[in-house]
Order: sequence, then C-alpha cells, then structure tokens
Amino acid sequence: MAYLLGKQQNNPSFFVEYTQDEHERLDKLFWCDGQSRNDYKAFGHVLAFDTTYKCNAYRKPFVVLVGVNHNRKTVVFGCALIVDEKTESFVWVLNQMIKAGEGFKPLTVITDGDRAMACAIKEVLPEARHRLCLWHLMRNIQGHGQNGFSSGFMTCVNKCHTIEDFEVAWKELITHHKVEGEKWVEELYDSREKWSEAHMRGYFFGGLYEIITRMNFPIDVLSNFFLLFLAIEQRRFDDREDEYKNIHEFPHVPKGDCFRDLQIAAANVYTKASFMVVKREMKRESNYVVMNCDQPEKGKKKDIVTYHIRDVRTKAKFVAVHDDTHKSMYCCCLKLESIGYPCRHMFAVMKYKGMKEIPPGCIVQRWLKLAKANYAKDPTDENKEDDNSRETIAARRAHLSYILKPIIDIAVRSADTYTELKEMFGKLTLSVKEKLGGGCNSDTKEKKPLLGIGNPEVVTSQKGLSKKRKTPLKPKGGR
Ligand SMILES: [Zn+2]
Repeated sequence: MAYLLGKQQNNPSFFVEYTQDEHERLDKLFWCDGQSRNDYKAFGHVLAFDTTYKCNAYRKPFVVLVGVNHNRKTVVFGCALIVDEKTESFVWVLNQMIKAGEGFKPLTVITDGDRAMACAIKEVLPEARHRLCLWHLMRNIQGHGQNGFSSGFMTCVNKCHTIEDFEVAWKELITHHKVEGEKWVEELYDSREKWSEAHMRGYFFGGLYEIITRMNFPIDVLSNFFLLFLAIEQRRFDDREDEYKNIHEFPHVPKGDCFRDLQIAAANVYTKASFMVVKREMKRESNYVVMNCDQPEKGKKKDIVTYHIRDVRTKAKFVAVHDDTHKSMYCCCLKLESIGYPCRHMFAVMKYKGMKEIPPGCIVQRWLKLAKANYAKDPTDENKEDDNSRETIAARRAHLSYILKPIIDIAVRSADTYTELKEMFGKLTLSVKEKLGGGCNSDTKEKKPLLGIGNPEVVTSQKGLSKKRKTPLKPKGGR
C-alpha cells in the first residue's frame, strides 16, 4: 500500500483508491498508472473483467481489467483487490475504472459468467453489452464430458448469420448429442444472447472473446504485486517494439494485386497487426461478386447507392450501401460495427467501383497507428509555458518518457549505440542543469504523509484458491 501511495505522490497520473473496514483495515483497493489510464481511454471500448485469481497473501479476489490495443495485444487497464465477490464490490471496481478514465465507459464487458459481476455491469453500465468468456464456456462444456459437443457449439457461436440459422444449428447440435433437457444445456441456451454472434451482431467486441488465454500471466506473478508490475512493463516493452515497427516497417504489397492501391492506403494508416486483418478481408473478397446496384430514385440523393452481393460458394446474399457524401459504407453483416474493420463485402464494392482508398467512415481510430496520439499530447501545446505546477511537470515527464522510450529500447540492442546514447544524455543533462542554474528540485509540492492502513483480513475460506474455478460458468437465467 505504501508502495502504491508513494508512486501516486511521485506521479499524479498514478491512480490509487481504497476503502477501509470498521477496524481501519484495507477493504478494497484499485490502482492503475498513467499509461494504463491512457490505454483505457484509447482502447477501453471492450473491457474484460477477470476475478479468477486468489493467490495473493490475503487470499482475496484479485481483479485484473484488460483490453486489446491497436497492435491487437492485451493491455492491462487496472488492478483491484476486493474483499469479496459481491455485486457492491464489483460496482466499486467498475466505478474506480471509470473515474480513472475520466468518465470513459466501455461499450462491452466480457466476464467469466459470475452473477454478481453481471448485476454490477447492469447497475454501472446499463447501456453496455455483456459477453461471456468463450474459454470459460468451453471449459464448462468439457466439464460435462462433452468434448465432441465443442465443435458444433463453435458453429453456433460464430458461424450463424441470423437468429433463425442459430436456432436450426442449436437444435441439430443437441439432437445429435442427445443432451436435450439437460440442465447445463438449458442454462447455456438461456445465456445465448451473451455468447452467440447471431444475437450480438453489431455490438463492438474488437475480436476479444476470451479473458484468461489472452492474459496468460503466470500464477506466481499474480501473487506478487512487484512481479506483476514487472510483467506489465515487459508487455509494454513488446508493445514499444510493435510501435517501432509500425513507424519504420512497411508491409509488402505485391505488384499486380487488384487491391494494391487500397492496401498501400491501408498500410499507411493501420498498425501492422490491424493491416493483416484488413488484408485478410480483402483476400476473402474473391468469394463474392457484386450482382447489381439500386440506382437512387428520382429526387433522392444520387450519392447513396445500394449494392447486392452474392457469395459464389454458398449463394448467400448481402447488401452494402455506399454513402459518397459522408464517405462511409454500411453492410448488413455488421462486421464493421462488431470488430471495427471493413468487411469483405465492402471490399467487393470498393473493387467494383475502382476505389483507391478506404472511405474514412469505415476506418475506426482505435486500430490506427495514431490511436494513442490524443493521449500523448505535448503539454506545451496548451500554452502552459509559465505553468510549473506539479500536474504540468507530471504531464511533461510523461510526454518526454513517451518520446524517449523507443530510442532507449533501440539503443540498448548494441554496446556502441548504448554508449553513444549514454554520452549524449550525459551532455544533455549538463546543458539542462546549466540552464536551470543548478536547480533541479522542480517538484515543489509537499509530500503527503502515508496514511496508516492496517493489513486486510486474511480470507480463510477455501473457495477459489487456485486459478481454476470449481464452477466456471454460472450463466444468468432466461430472458
Ligand atoms: Zn459485410
């Protein structure tokens, strides 16, 4: 606790909140640093909420809130230690995350199926869509000795375009496996709106379906906060490598490819990882053909045109609309709304029209190289030259760290570049000290004394001692 409060005193962007019980012992604790807060504001549209770890010294539920960044890698938004797994505890955690994110609220939340957490989401985020973690769902199925059920279940999860298709596939599945009427099957079906793509089409999930497999922190890391900080920092190091590649490496775009212009335009704006998703959609376009388009009726806007597209293998039909005035597109498959990338049907229209750029209305900011640009703004842009408050100093420190980290990461790869950078920094340090007249004591704010907080009560119950839950899925009842 002293470590976290110390970090907050040295850096105002570090967020810590806690509550105490009637004996002044630690009750609930939430923390995140400046980078996690910025990541949450840039990528917190989808929030995965995991409470499966209870391996710390106090055996309390340890909550890690995660999401996916523009490089399609897992990022930690915040961590919490709570006294129990009751709704009010999860309500408190969600409220702290929103407070740390200056009011930003997720569009969708992924959980392991805990009922108390589901109630908390309803209370704090009534507009958000709740999705159940696919990994937990599969474990629940395998727990009923139904390994063969899994592949058919995956068809119901993500291969059904409409609710009617889903109902047909579900009926076939339970008939084939002779599990009709079983309680766990009924519970699974009752929670279908929280896992079936056909029911969730159009709600943004950004491709995040699971919690644990994406987190993948070893148990010993989660039992020690310091190791957790190191593990998060290691992931950030990997992320800085991705950032470096986004700027300095351009993906190969083959000559003669019918999407060459669109691929070059996409590679200029999307991160490498996002570009690969877009490229895959372009490739899958080859299975689709534009059959015809509806010309606008007389007197109606001429730049909104509806296209009818057909899958040449399955004969399935799709409808895409191109709005040239607003430079946007819509497709009935709702893939753009669900994952944030233009779909193969849109690319069929772009090819048909000979477009050289993806319409800006189809490009989602959170997948771009500049996704975080708004959160790494230079503090001097806001005319704060004369402002030497603790907050402005912290903002300058964060901005300089953001600028310097990539060059440090590159320089340490060889002894020569390391020595060269060290010498340059040495000269710069002398120059800066001279300009300040030797006064480097810029942090003028008084240090607050650390509050006396008792250790939390140790939980004696055996529940949830390991990463694996006894009952991984407790789906909510029917609608
Ligand atoms: Zn589509």
